[in-house]
Amino acid sequence: MGDPEGRLRWSRRGALAVGAAAGAGLVVPGLAGRAHATEPPTTEPAPRPRPARVPGPESVPGPEGMPGPAAGAGGLSEAVRAPYIARCFEWGARKPKFPPKIWDRRPIRILVHHTAGANTTDYSVGAAHRLARGIQAYHMDSNGWLDSGQHFTISRGGHIMEGRLYSLGELNGGRRVVEGAHSPGQNVIAIGIENEGTYIGVEPTPALWNSLRATCAYICLKYGIAPTELYGHRDYRNTICPGDRLYGMLPRLRSEVAGLLGRRLSRTEAGKASWPLLREGASGALVEAAQYLLRDAGTLRGKPDGRYDDRTVTAVTEFQTAHRADDVNGILGGESWPELARTVRAGTEGDAARAVEVLAAYRKVESVPDVVDHPVWQRLLGTGGSPVPVAEDPPGVLDR
Ligand SMILES: [Zn+2]
Repeated sequence: MGDPEGRLRWSRRGALAVGAAAGAGLVVPGLAGRAHATEPPTTEPAPRPRPARVPGPESVPGPEGMPGPAAGAGGLSEAVRAPYIARCFEWGARKPKFPPKIWDRRPIRILVHHTAGANTTDYSVGAAHRLARGIQAYHMDSNGWLDSGQHFTISRGGHIMEGRLYSLGELNGGRRVVEGAHSPGQNVIAIGIENEGTYIGVEPTPALWNSLRATCAYICLKYGIAPTELYGHRDYRNTICPGDRLYGMLPRLRSEVAGLLGRRLSRTEAGKASWPLLREGASGALVEAAQYLLRDAGTLRGKPDGRYDDRTVTAVTEFQTAHRADDVNGILGGESWPELARTVRAGTEGDAARAVEVLAAYRKVESVPDVVDHPVWQRLLGTGGSPVPVAEDPPGVLDR
């Protein structure tokens, strides 16, 4: 932003002396061509395949997790009636290549996705079933996975469907989880829900929203997941998913799911201090800070200018390659931010400290802690709220 290169100064009380003027606000275009063009027509980009790991001791192989009886309303609060979820056989699913692994543990969060496909106006049950079959075919035939990657699918007409086989039976049982393939590192500890459509510039239909809310509430109830523990795919990966608009609605989703469960969330609980998704076409202080961090990491050459152009895309891609990211795509999201935002201590000089200074000026904060670690970075980069947890899957997950 044209500030002279300077050293970062903390006061003796840990306050940062900020000399830079605040940068322009973050600007993200409606569609980032490079990122979006890589997405296949029916579903979001697949994570790159990883070598299979040795199954962990907690894994339970085989198909013994047969679907249980459909959940009744017995014991559920009046507000959380079990939503109707069509089983795989109802939408005409193919048989998986081999039975999905079932883990003897409960998931701890829900990940919200969008399919990045067309925003159809065919809200029929027939269209919903075609959607589920299309995703399954893509995941099995193009990605080479054993079955659909996600646990559940919701159409724009609001029809809710089982994704990977046995997911519904295990949900109804409330004790075990089917291993999915919807996000590396989150395939056992998180239930993945694919929502039909692309929600970068528009909101989901009311029917989809209501079904998403009901599905999340039911999953929270059966697995004992707190309604605060709903996240977007981008919180953990370098992806646009679930789209800027739907992602921005997650605080509302947490609040409404909590309401169905008879709880109220504070604004802080409903919000999350996450990593901003930056991509080609973005500009402003967050981009400038990212550029300083990229230069600190040795992948950006030249002076940071707050513009996420080709040079920055290349620098992010180099950084992702060096860190063996699953998503090497030039998009800076929840997978690469934690590695890029390294710990900075008071008195440090250099580009990482300069990034702190840019953000402190942008946020108009008068004091920065002596140690800028992930929670501090998230506060400087994000919108406030409680930190996004980082726990990942146990060893032994196939990711396919
Ligand atoms: Zn996703």
